[in-house]
Amino acid sequence: MSTRPVLEVKDLDVHYGLRRRRRRALHEVSLSVAPGETVGIIGETGSGKSTLARAALGLVPVSAGSIVVDGEDVSSYGHRQWRTLRRRGVIQYVFQDPLRSLDPDLTIEASLAEPLLIQGMSRGEAAVRVRSFLSRVRLSEDLLDRSPAELSGGQRQRVAVARALVTEPRLIILDEPVSALDSANRVQILQILKELRGDGVALVFISHDLGSVAGVADRIAVLYQGELVEAGAARDVISRPRHPYTRLLVSSAPTLHSAPAERAEREALRALLHA
Ligand code: ATP
Ligand code: MG
Repeated sequence: MSTRPVLEVKDLDVHYGLRRRRRRALHEVSLSVAPGETVGIIGETGSGKSTLARAALGLVPVSAGSIVVDGEDVSSYGHRQWRTLRRRGVIQYVFQDPLRSLDPDLTIEASLAEPLLIQGMSRGEAAVRVRSFLSRVRLSEDLLDRSPAELSGGQRQRVAVARALVTEPRLIILDEPVSALDSANRVQILQILKELRGDGVALVFISHDLGSVAGVADRIAVLYQGELVEAGAARDVISRPRHPYTRLLVSSAPTLHSAPAERAEREALRALLHA
């Protein structure tokens, strides 16, 4: 298998708004994702996580830096080129709210088959492929003729994951895929994501919750106020966080460390960060 990165972002700047309302959302962000690797991106609300996801999917314009997807420099792509790239199914995505990413008027079967039909697969082949991916996300074939509204939140999110998987992409970007789920469904989705690791598909898993990312990610990158302040092997970031914000995240995630962190240290870090 090629070891060329599936996603390579270099010195990325993204701004929102025009003229006097122009605000920087990302500054000099660099990140590389290897084939089959799971990279967790964590950061507090407004730190730029979704902006980074949208930039890598061509959904927001980039003001500086470069984006390479599976060896293809897409930095200067226009809308049509991005749409063609997304339709090829090399890069897929799952967002927080599956009701928004699934077409309410399509049955689950039609939703899952759609990306395959766009690629030119026959209906028969698509039907077989769809069924083979259902069991991967632990869904029964009985659900295929329902609409998204007739599923539970956890089932819908599993459909969204299956939809991202059917084209056998090189990379899936998941933006807060478990944040809207209860803990049982969260555990199930995290388990499914873990199982994908052996399949060669790379995942970018975005979350504000270090606890969710910790068990799944090979590497963790930390965004703080639009900048990537720390990145490394998940183990190292959790056991030896370097940036004060990462230290705060680690000490605030009770399941990650055995000894309870000193409240005073947490308060001191909080004060330092918000000074
Ligand atoms: P959250 O955890 O709440 O989802 P996030 O880390 O995903 O936060 P972003 O949505 O990337 O954060 O937002 C980064 C910054 O860009 C924030 O200051 C936000 O207010 C701003 N922003 C996001 N989308 C837009 C937009 N469409 N227009 C203007 N500003 C935006
Ligand atoms: Mg977000």
